[in-house]
Parts: sequence; C-alpha cells; structure tokens
Amino acid sequence: MSHTFNDQELTQHITQLFLAAGCHEAEASEVASNLVMANLSGHDSHGVGMAPRYIDAVLEKNLIPNSKVAVRVDSGMLLGLDGQRGFGQTVGVQAMDLAFERVAQHGACIMSLAHAHHLGRIGHFAEMAVARGWVSLQFVNVMAAPAVAPWHGGDGRFGTNPCCIGIPVGLGDNAQEPFVLDFATSRVAQGKMRVAYNEGKTVASGTLIDEHGQPTNNPGVVVVPQSNGKFGALMPFGEHKGFGLAVACELLGGALSGGGSWHGAADGKRAVYNGMLSIIIDPKALGTQMSFAQETLAFIEWLRQSPAIQGSDGVQLAGEPERAARLARKKNGIVVDDATWQEIQNAGSKVGLSL
Ligand code: NAD
Repeated sequence: MSHTFNDQELTQHITQLFLAAGCHEAEASEVASNLVMANLSGHDSHGVGMAPRYIDAVLEKNLIPNSKVAVRVDSGMLLGLDGQRGFGQTVGVQAMDLAFERVAQHGACIMSLAHAHHLGRIGHFAEMAVARGWVSLQFVNVMAAPAVAPWHGGDGRFGTNPCCIGIPVGLGDNAQEPFVLDFATSRVAQGKMRVAYNEGKTVASGTLIDEHGQPTNNPGVVVVPQSNGKFGALMPFGEHKGFGLAVACELLGGALSGGGSWHGAADGKRAVYNGMLSIIIDPKALGTQMSFAQETLAFIEWLRQSPAIQGSDGVQLAGEPERAARLARKKNGIVVDDATWQEIQNAGSKVGLSL
C-alpha cells in the first residue's frame, strides 16, 4: 500500500513533525519544504523519508534545532563556517547566503562549511547560485557510517560523498534552464537502498557487496545489520575514477573544511553530518560573461543535436530529470510507500504528535 499526497499537504504534515521536535516555525517549514522539494524532484531518497532519522538525531541531542551558522574565518573571498550541528537545510542556506554576499563584493567566494547536519539534496544550493547567474561547485563528505567500499576494497570505508556542479546556460532573454549535475559518488545514493528495501525490491548487479565482500542484489545489506552483525557496502560509481572523486570530496568537504574525515567503525548514531567546500564564481567578474553565455548555449545546442540512440528519448542534460519530475509530481502528487509513512508516524509518536 502507498499514500499519495499533494506537496502542500505533505509539507504541512512534516512541518508539524519538526515543530513538535522543537524547531521554530521558520525552521520547521524550511526543513519540511526542502525535503518535499527533494521528493518533487524525484529524489525520494532525500525527501520526507529522512525525517524519522532527523527526529532520532534530535532526540539523541546530536542534531540541534534552531542552530545558526557560525563564522570562523572571514577574509574577503574566503569564508570558513561552522554549522554547529544544526539542520543542514537551514545552516546550509545561511552559509550560501553569506557566500553570496562575498560573491557580490569580490566576484567569487570559496566557502567551507563544517559540522552541518545532513544537507539533503546538494543541488538545492547550486540552484540558489545559478538563479543569480553564478557558477557553483560543491564537494561534500558524509559523516554517518562507512557505507561505500573503496575501488577494489571489500568493505565500507567512507560515505556517499556527493559532488554537485551548477552552471547557468545563456543570459537574460536568451537564458535556458541551467545545468545542475548533482550526484552521490556511490553507484546509487544510500537513501535509494532504504527506499528499495522498504518497497521489497532488489537492485542492479554491481551496486552492492554484502557483509562478506561478495556481490549481492539485496539492498537490505546496507539498511539492516546482517547475520554477523556487520553491514555490506555500496560500490563507488565510475570505477577507479569515481572512487578518486569520492576521496577528493572527503578530503575537500571533510578535512579542508575542518569537519573531519571518516576513519573508524560505524558508531550507531542516527545523526548524519556533512562537510562542504563550495566555490562560487560570477562569470561577469571573470570578464567572460558574454562569451560564457554564448558558449554555454552553443555547446548545449550542439549536444542536443546528437541523434537519439534506439530506444532512448535522446540527449538530456543534468537537471532536466529533476525539473520533469517536479512538473509531474506537482500534478499527480507524491507517493510515499507504506513503510516510509509508518516510520514518519512512529517518529511523530516519539515527539508526541499523532499524524
Ligand atoms: P542520480 O543518479 O539520480 O542523478 C545524478 C545526476 O544525473 C543529476 O544531476 C541528474 O540531473 C543527472 N541525470 C540523471 N539522468 C540523466 C540523463 N539521462 N542524462 C543526463 N543527466 C542525467 O542522483 P544520485 O546519485 O542518486 O543522488 C541523489 C541525490 O542525493 C542528490 O541530490 C545528492 O545531492 C543527494 N545526496 C546527498 C547526500 C548528503 O549526505 N547530503 C549524500 C549522497 C547523495
């Protein structure tokens, strides 16, 4: 069984949940809207299904409602920030807003954010920058559990470390939808394994290894402890190259930001911390605004002219699947599977709310 909600109705339910967990109204609604936007964008892995974990993290006192981002270093184009274990959906936006002030002043900003709780869909932050006509790069590490195996390794050693690049296409009246590449460096996002497990599905070969380091199609190996008490692991995407990018995300998002890198066994905590290094550039300040706008349009147009291979809809660009999902789900509603909805209801009971 599943439940279909329109986005506003679902946002209201989830806002109530975070209000009951101690968030002020603005934060409860910002976190709920962000999660529902992930569902609308087709990424149920980063949608309302994360809410029960956030509630557990609040109850464990490892996620602190109503925290504000703290400025550790502010030297013009360089901004060193600390999320103080606050909701990533709020401290992440505060961090980007501070970085945008620096971009307006200096033409670019290198911003690091340490100790944010889960930042959710990283594309959200790149979309904020491209809406201003700016380029935005994000390298992020995940401090939760060693869920992903190194290339040619037999167990999990690091997180699903997402990487995101947002690039505006065209300018002014000639602007087109932006390029927003936003992905986990694991072959699939961890949350997608939770969704598959909740829906009783198996996953594609080459995605997972089990608790003995052997290939498996069972998403449960990374969701619930296995017979020997251990978990399996996700594989990195793109073989040795994806693995290399995952390591770079750990070292830039985690080590360089001051948030730290992962090197230990799972600690069983429900909190998920992210460290993020963001680089935001105004093409105008680089002196290439006009040619950049022309070249982005010309190159995208060139790509679109590639003939579609048989059985495909032709070339798509990063960001398109999310925009198409938003249109469809705004119209048809968001489907929440029964197991996820039950987890949300249980999370409500933990904070005295009946959903
Ligand atoms: P995905 O594999 O669904 O998509 C990755 C990217 O590929 C997107 O930019 C999408 O637009 C693009 N894309 C998809 N199909 C395409 C096609 N046919 N042609 C061209 N481009 C295409 O994403 P994912 O790896 O499952 O990640 C899902 C979400 O999880 C992301 O938003 C990511 O930021 C988030 N995430 C967050 C964390 C965290 O700790 N905060 C960790 C991991 C992932």
